[in-house]
Amino acid sequence: MNILDGRQLARDIRAELAEEVTKIKEKGGRPPHLAAVLVGDHPASQVYVRNKVRSCEKVGFRSTLIRRPADVGEAELLDIVGQLNQDEEVDGFIVQLPLPGHIDEEKVTLAINPEKDVDGFHPVNFGRMAQGLPCYLPATPAGILEMIRRYEIQTEGKEVVVVGRSNIVGTPISILLSRKAYPGNATVTICHSRTKDLPDHLRRADIIIAAIGIPEFIRGDMVKEGVVAIDVGINRVEAPDTEKGYRLCGDIDFGSVSPKASLITPVPGGVGQLTVVSLLINTLKAAKGEIYV
Ligand code: NAD
Repeated sequence: MNILDGRQLARDIRAELAEEVTKIKEKGGRPPHLAAVLVGDHPASQVYVRNKVRSCEKVGFRSTLIRRPADVGEAELLDIVGQLNQDEEVDGFIVQLPLPGHIDEEKVTLAINPEKDVDGFHPVNFGRMAQGLPCYLPATPAGILEMIRRYEIQTEGKEVVVVGRSNIVGTPISILLSRKAYPGNATVTICHSRTKDLPDHLRRADIIIAAIGIPEFIRGDMVKEGVVAIDVGINRVEAPDTEKGYRLCGDIDFGSVSPKASLITPVPGGVGQLTVVSLLINTLKAAKGEIYV
């Protein structure tokens, strides 16, 4: 078993991004600028946004955090989005989801100019992705592709089973791995909560991508020898013996799957690390005008 080391990959990519920023500055340009809108005090969202801002700082990007309380009105939020769309100093921006219940998330997502939608959640970017056109890829699937590329994992003709069909992970990674490209050219099966006999599908998989949200759900007896196991899940489970009182784990049971796997991502230290750097890569692309020219 070998570890797919997301932490090391993220470090390598951040170093490459920092080098790019230096080059931009040397040519008299300004560093890429990412803005993030955070509504309310959802604990996980605060952590995610903090990581994104911190990562910008690490590579020399400019970042702006716009915070509003949970009771912000939809009109005010749409107004902020409108201003960011217009702001020529901002290359890309994200509105951290989930939003409070009184705000229509779809309306907010649709209001973002696709040219600045570095989260890749706007239907224009999703549609362009599905058609193989230049677009901002959603960060987590983009991170998985980057991991596959950098570890030179073969995907052509492979049986890939994706568990989970969310719009931000399961569905896009399924589309991306079935397209005529590398990484891609795989035979992809999407499994979900209504799938009959999930283990039967999993045992045929050369590559498993788990994005379910159930701690250690996929066990060693459900996978075949030599599988590549990519775990997107990030779950908190109680651990009274630890200082924090909890530990993080994935959707794949590392203890029983790792002895059978040829490659496996740990949680933490796997896919999550690449999600944030993928957002930075998209921001750099936005600053360079690489996607929408
Ligand atoms: P989600 O939470 O929107 O949906 C879960 C998916 O799992 C659904 O499509 C559902 O059909 C499927 N599912 C539920 N029960 C199942 C079962 N018994 N058998 C098979 N499938 C089942 O999905 P999401 O937003 O992609 O999140 C999934 C996990 O990935 C969560 O743990 C989340 O925290 C994590 N996540 C991590 C990152 C990262 O950067 N690593 C990014 C996004 C999400």
